[in-house]
Amino acid sequence: MNLDITADSKVDCSHLSIQEDIDDEFTIGDPHTGEFLRVPKVAVDVIEMLDGQISIGEVKEAVSKKYNEDVDVIDFVMTILDCKMVYSINGKVLHTSINREPLLILRRLGSFFFSNVLVCLYAVAFLAVLFLFIVNPASFPKFQDLFIYETVGISTLNIVVVAWILTLVHEVGHLLAASKENISTRIRLNLRMIWLVAETDMTGLWARPKNNRYVPFLAGMMWDVVIIFACLIIQQVTNHPLIIGYSKLIVFLVLFAFLFQFIIFLRTDIYFVVSNWKNTSALHQNSLMFLSKIILKKNLPEWDHLPEYEKKNAVWFGFLYGIGGIIAISLFLYFQVPPVLYGVSLVYKSITVYGIDSYYFWDSAIVLFVFILQGIAWLFGLKTSLRQRKERRSTVEA
Ligand SMILES: [Zn+2]
Repeated sequence: MNLDITADSKVDCSHLSIQEDIDDEFTIGDPHTGEFLRVPKVAVDVIEMLDGQISIGEVKEAVSKKYNEDVDVIDFVMTILDCKMVYSINGKVLHTSINREPLLILRRLGSFFFSNVLVCLYAVAFLAVLFLFIVNPASFPKFQDLFIYETVGISTLNIVVVAWILTLVHEVGHLLAASKENISTRIRLNLRMIWLVAETDMTGLWARPKNNRYVPFLAGMMWDVVIIFACLIIQQVTNHPLIIGYSKLIVFLVLFAFLFQFIIFLRTDIYFVVSNWKNTSALHQNSLMFLSKIILKKNLPEWDHLPEYEKKNAVWFGFLYGIGGIIAISLFLYFQVPPVLYGVSLVYKSITVYGIDSYYFWDSAIVLFVFILQGIAWLFGLKTSLRQRKERRSTVEA
């Protein structure tokens, strides 16, 4: 296709969303493709005029007059053309925008579950959980809570199934909260470093006002809190051993997932909250740059070219990385090492003590089966991770 842009070309970009970030900085983007660009005010004026009706020459004349300087509109259009943000040139549609609006039912559910009243109640539930853990420290999860069946194989299988159901609930929270904002999302598996995670692609959220993004980013954790709260209450009101067993197992798994969000260098939910608050989508790269500058003493010319506020954010965020590191190590030592050691010791005992004709032997084989299943899921995550690296575009997963 001939994409020559001249002063006579009529370009349509009216599908782009425009959000003000900080003084004189705007994010323009296409929520359907997930392409976003940070631009100054003058570019916003240009975009607003590019409606496919008036020519680039006319747009140039208008903005040059307004800003009293020569604005190179053709160059700007070439840039957004590269970013696949142009809808049509001279009436010729470049990419048919797919209608990815969320289903009405999801929007309605999102509006209900993330109404102001319920969001306030989620905050109350958070305080209540803190209170319950403080007044009754014995209710804080222990690794023994994981093994609720007599045999290790059934317990392991049970842990995996419950953990995936809880993960799904967390992601559906994101999905519904984003649907309320009329943003379509999809849930998929991905890798954060080596950890397999489920995530909800909420890239389109950048098309919504800054303050509207917090609830979708935190939606999963809001539901986590409610689940923990409900389980702690259940433990108080029932004596049924299996119900208590499951409620303790759920508290263990959800609390782990909740605290995991604070390891922000894994681009978790809290990472997106912080980067939204600090108005930067390049927090991760900039902070890594800062850390390699001070720790590895690398000389990075790109660092010197960063705007002052991006530098400040990177330093501040580098500090949060440190806190994330401490949380990661603590979680690993408290929530992961003891149960794995305990599980492995049980498996070892079953396999060495019991023969192939024993139930306990085959029960231990289930553990191996579970690991294989997890391995397959990990490969799916690897696929997403590799594809993303290829696409190299800024996305939001939470
Ligand atoms: Zn999340």
